[in-house]
Amino acid sequence: MVNGHKLWTTLAMDANMIFMLVRTQNTGKKQEGITFLLVPLETPGITVRPIVNLGMHDEFAEVFFDNVRVPVANVVGGENNGWTIAKALLGHERIFIGSPKFATLAMYRLKALAEAVGLFADPNFVARYAALKLDVEDLGAAYRRFVAVLKRGGHIGAEVSLLKIWNTETQQRITDLMLDAAGENAGVWGSVATADGVARPAGEFIGSRPTTIYGGSNEVQRNILAKAVLGLPG
Ligand SMILES: Cc1cc2nc3c(=O)[nH]c(=O)nc-3n(C[C@H](O)[C@H](O)[C@H](O)COP(=O)(O)OP(=O)(O)OC[C@H]3O[C@@H](n4cnc5c(N)ncnc54)[C@H](O)[C@@H]3O)c2cc1C
Repeated sequence: MVNGHKLWTTLAMDANMIFMLVRTQNTGKKQEGITFLLVPLETPGITVRPIVNLGMHDEFAEVFFDNVRVPVANVVGGENNGWTIAKALLGHERIFIGSPKFATLAMYRLKALAEAVGLFADPNFVARYAALKLDVEDLGAAYRRFVAVLKRGGHIGAEVSLLKIWNTETQQRITDLMLDAAGENAGVWGSVATADGVARPAGEFIGSRPTTIYGGSNEVQRNILAKAVLGLPG
């Protein structure tokens, strides 16, 4: 029987299954007493309530579990073994969140905005733009190294956290520059005219803020790199 409450489940309204990490043992190391369950969202006792974000989208939800009965067949990987499965899953999530496609798209939108307002004639802007462009290129090169390991059937380790940090913080710096580039339109909620009409500087800026929180906050990612990769004391 599962009871509890999970906040910030992205797109739960559109899903038909949910996984849960539930505490099934209170003795031993904390990580050892967790079980991974895969459950249909229509199971009696599960309620999904949408959350409206600053962009006025109900992209997230909170999920309530009240006396939810889960058959043993829905246990994935064996009882009390959920942390091992969760770590593998999080590694894949960090590859996804570390993809340079997000920062590349943000650069494309920054370029469209800067062209529309004539900023490529400003050497200060060009220097900041070029530095960001090189950061995105470097991120792409690092990302391809991780993907090559996966393609060979290998396992990526804790060092994948660096992609998550790099991509999300680069995205934030790109959208910081987008706000500067938008000038007096920085606070406009909606599109700013560009050649193809796609720039929404305020929306891009706000949208990139939670990236350093979700998927495990960047502070926690830095702890993982410090302990598991650099071997620093915890
Ligand atoms: C937009 C959004 C979408 C999300 N989507 C999903 C989803 O689909 N599914 C899902 O399961 N979750 C989702 N989440 C939840 C997300 O994974 C968590 O919010 C995130 O992992 C941080 O955990 P927390 O909220 O418990 O914060 P906490 O862990 O309580 O952290 C609070 C603050 O303390 C800091 N902190 C905590 N521990 C340490 C430490 N040891 N050392 C240094 N600093 C520390 C953190 O960096 C942070 O600044 C989403 C969150 C957001 C904002």
